[in-house]
Amino acid sequence: MSDVRCERCQKPLEIGEHPFCPHGFPVVGLKQIGDEIDEVNENVGHTPVHFRSRSEKRRYLKERGLMEFVRHVGAPGSDRSSKTTRWV
Ligand SMILES: [Zn+2]
Repeated sequence: MSDVRCERCQKPLEIGEHPFCPHGFPVVGLKQIGDEIDEVNENVGHTPVHFRSRSEKRRYLKERGLMEFVRHVGAPGSDRSSKTTRWV
């Protein structure tokens, strides 16, 4: 037993448990944490492609020699982009 509690919600913490809210245990297994997505990507083909996991998306892009377009690209005349300025 442990008498360590979360400072915020007073939940008794168990060994291995995430010490901050929200609590839980890391998922250990073949499946990567956060692999599941529900994304309709319109940039990888002529028609929107529905991805249900990141690995599925990676495989799709790799098969077609595509790169996920995530680089910061500034708008002309400035270093700012309407797509990235919110990421503070
Ligand atoms: Zn808590």
